[in-house]
Amino acid sequence: MRIDAEGWCHGLRRIASPNCDRRLPGTEVSLLVIHNISLPPGEFGGKAIEQLFTNTLDCDTHPYYERLRGLQVSAHFLVRRDGQLIQFVSCSKRAWHAGVSEWQGRSRCNDFSLGIELEGDDDTPFTDAQYAALIRLTRRLQRHYPLRDITGHSDIAPGRKTDPGPYFDWPRFLSALQA
Ligand SMILES: [Zn+2]
Repeated sequence: MRIDAEGWCHGLRRIASPNCDRRLPGTEVSLLVIHNISLPPGEFGGKAIEQLFTNTLDCDTHPYYERLRGLQVSAHFLVRRDGQLIQFVSCSKRAWHAGVSEWQGRSRCNDFSLGIELEGDDDTPFTDAQYAALIRLTRRLQRHYPLRDITGHSDIAPGRKTDPGPYFDWPRFLSALQA
């Protein structure tokens, strides 16, 4: 897995999302944010996440999608249940994943972070393949960007977001990064 000068990882699937913009010049990418997502909630394996991130989701196809109408969101990466990695936004750009957020007194976390979505929800353990892919990707990103902190969406948007949820095994993830 190689990261090129434009911030794209080679060796994984790429589906470009328009839901991103330029980072302010000189911004250090110092925070990694872990999320979970499933669409519809609790259902895995469909194309709806990719469609949401590319503004092609037909919001008439499920009652839950009504609240997603007009939403423009993205993350840099998605880790599917089988461990497949998809990149939607160049790491050089600001993906619209965190929303209203704050980390250690600094607001607008999208400005200085990378976002990784794990396909999942707050009620289901993540798969071994997802941990393996996430660890591999995170190690690669740590070598390329000055990431000082790794956190969950729920920690930067408390009261508003709960992901990656109680089933995300932080000790497993963080200890693997140190190994
Ligand atoms: Zn999230």
